[in-house]
Amino acid sequence: MSLPADFDVRERVREANDIVDVVGSSLELRRQGSSFVARCPWHDDKKPSLSVNPVRQSWKCWPCDIGGDVFSFVMRRDGVSFPEALKILADRAGIEIQRSGTPVEKGSVDDKATLLSAMKWAEERFFNYLEKSPAAAVVRDYLQQRGIDEENRVRFRIGFAPDQWDWLLGAALDAGFSPQILQAVGLALARNSGSGHYDFFRGRLMFPIYDLQDRPIAFGGRHVPMIGDQSGGKYMNTSETKLFSKSQHLYALNMARQPMQRQRQALVMEGYTDVIAARQHGIETAVACLGVAVGESHVRLLKRFVDQIVLVLDGDAAGQRRADEVVELFVAADVDMRVLTLPQGQDPADFLNEQGADAFKELVAQAPDAIDHKLARATDGVDLVRDTHAASAALDSMLRLVAKSPQNGNTLRTEQTVMRLARTFGLPAETLQRRIDEHRQDPRQRREFKRQPEPAAPPAPVRRQPITGIDRELFELMIEMSELVPQALEAIEPRWLATDTARALMTVYEDLELEGHDLDIQNVLLAVEDAHLKGVLVNFQQSVDDKAATVNGPPEERMQAVIDRFRGTELSHQRQQTLKELESSQLDDEEEMELLKQMFAQERTRQGLLTPPPSSE
Ligand SMILES: [Zn+2]
Repeated sequence: MSLPADFDVRERVREANDIVDVVGSSLELRRQGSSFVARCPWHDDKKPSLSVNPVRQSWKCWPCDIGGDVFSFVMRRDGVSFPEALKILADRAGIEIQRSGTPVEKGSVDDKATLLSAMKWAEERFFNYLEKSPAAAVVRDYLQQRGIDEENRVRFRIGFAPDQWDWLLGAALDAGFSPQILQAVGLALARNSGSGHYDFFRGRLMFPIYDLQDRPIAFGGRHVPMIGDQSGGKYMNTSETKLFSKSQHLYALNMARQPMQRQRQALVMEGYTDVIAARQHGIETAVACLGVAVGESHVRLLKRFVDQIVLVLDGDAAGQRRADEVVELFVAADVDMRVLTLPQGQDPADFLNEQGADAFKELVAQAPDAIDHKLARATDGVDLVRDTHAASAALDSMLRLVAKSPQNGNTLRTEQTVMRLARTFGLPAETLQRRIDEHRQDPRQRREFKRQPEPAAPPAPVRRQPITGIDRELFELMIEMSELVPQALEAIEPRWLATDTARALMTVYEDLELEGHDLDIQNVLLAVEDAHLKGVLVNFQQSVDDKAATVNGPPEERMQAVIDRFRGTELSHQRQQTLKELESSQLDDEEEMELLKQMFAQERTRQGLLTPPPSSE
């Protein structure tokens, strides 16, 4: 093993991202003594339980028993892996992570940083216009009539694009953004004839869409009656750009993410105004797709944060059709999906305004799962007893659907579904299961499987072996006084430690020493990618501080004692090994003598180690 190749980049990224700033950009921090505290987003936190230590650059929530460094905070906050967290923090600090290929020219249409700042500039401009311009008063009134109050207008940063061809373009040059940049982020279009560009959004309410770092990356534009024409439709969204993909981003996910993580549930609605209406009624876990049905990438994204996805559909025929289309997707993705169909002719905003949030939550709680929903649809109006033709068609469509569920997925759920179908259609479960297996082997079915990306194999369960006893004492001492690390590395072999986790940690120390880095806890944290292990290290560090007042003797002596105990244990292992060899093997006299001599030598060393040194008095 050796240190990760990007260790130096990690160091730079860590230096450039103060943990107080990073945590403070997503949580409200309050100073408390030498630390900061915030309400923990991962449990229902009444008092601020999450603490941030600016000196150690660490964070910790005791009730959740989680903690770590700035990287593991971002990993948890955004539900990403270590390399992604590194990338996010590098972006934040403007540090370029070396990638293969040609470097991107600053300020060009390929430069993500420039595109992001153009979006930020435009978002502010749209927002300020709606907030402040006298000409926008009529639009503010319109929003009010539509039930969007000022608080939520500000919360969702709703803006307005006046009905002009160059309102944005005209100001962009002064702000340093060329028409090509505006075109690259989807805010301007090139004229078909001649040269020049024109604004893409004209006379529209602007709903910004943010990435998980709260940066605007796209807009939804809604036509306002009496302003401008409706060419382009009632809703217009930013097309695909370098920053935004409608199949991968969700409206308001940046805001809903933390409530989702607490409630383990996401509500996927059909429009951004639905999401805003939900928020006005205190429902914080709603998101919306933009101009596209829920797709695989959306599901994968949401699965990072929740266990259950509730699809909220308008009570019209189109809503039903959309549900039918996505049900298969959810079955194949092996996710707990519910389908909430609103009463005839209503959208979430109507329902919430008329019936209130409690009635809505009741609907959510009662929403059938995807298979039940499909079953109800397939058997709707079918006489299962008399109309055998229609009944078998319905059954077959259900079995084909169940056959799409991943075979390594939730088998319990599949079994329950089969039982349910058996009851509904009055057939033996074994027969149905056999039919499902046949569908799974059907080449047509297999092709369909292929078309969908392979479901990711479930990650191998990580055995979380706690580091305890003398292993823990050793690491705490190395954290307490990093000057003692070389001595410990010299005297103790990693294989003497009790668990894989402890051995791996020891190897990290070895690598750091080998490559001439400081042996402090900060560097160990930097070399470790596993969020859980980072948390363990922060715990050790805390416990070193807690014990500081009560611990006896200088660290040098305590380290020597720990080393002696390790060696003592190792020697008695060796002795047992030798004894075993003596008993089991056919040795000639000479070999036996040799082994015995070794054993006595080991024993003397062990005794010497275990005998307390004679008192000097
Ligand atoms: Zn917590």
